[in-house]
Amino acid sequence: MTRMLIVGPPGAGKGTQSKRISEELNIVAISTGDIFRENIKGETDLGKEAKKYVDAGELVPDSVTNRMVEDRLTWDDAAEGFLLDGYPRNLSQVAAFDEISSRLDVKLDVVLELTADTEELTSRLVQRAETDGRTDDNEDVIRHRLEVFQKETAPMIEEYRQRGLLQQVDGLGEIETVNARIMDALKA
Ligand code: ADP
Repeated sequence: MTRMLIVGPPGAGKGTQSKRISEELNIVAISTGDIFRENIKGETDLGKEAKKYVDAGELVPDSVTNRMVEDRLTWDDAAEGFLLDGYPRNLSQVAAFDEISSRLDVKLDVVLELTADTEELTSRLVQRAETDGRTDDNEDVIRHRLEVFQKETAPMIEEYRQRGLLQQVDGLGEIETVNARIMDALKA
């Protein structure tokens, strides 16, 4: 059983690789971004609350996100391990997640970071905007999401490095190539 996080800048391919990892390790992939997008589409209360932040490329307030993740982790499908994609995303969410982990008695095995350079990321995201139609994939919002990543998420990744949980994988290359690198890193 594996309990892990996948982290990395917007456009690094977390979603694509998460899907593969979850199939290969037989664990549920939980993406906070996907949950927000589904709720926005379904016009639920959570969606109404999250929409303005998501569309602006801002983080949804921690209180909302932490509660949502804790609830999701109590579902049956997370009992045999999980892959969290997009959470925690800043140091305050790491502190909240520490508490959630101890309440639910789930200890993290590994934090996988997908790395990629900013120029490649921007062009991937602009391209994705054309195919997926994500409302937060326009150039200004993309730039802002990258800034939020540098400012809020990079320090959180450093925290996991210091805890000895971080495995870094180069996210540039074919989907298959990156997937093979990830599987190698997870064996280590
Ligand atoms: P990406 O990392 O490619 O920008 P995500 O799907 O992970 O895309 O996230 C999209 C948006 O959802 C974020 O810009 C943010 O508004 C919201 N979001 C996702 N995860 C979190 C989180 N852990 N905390 C706060 N907001 C989040």
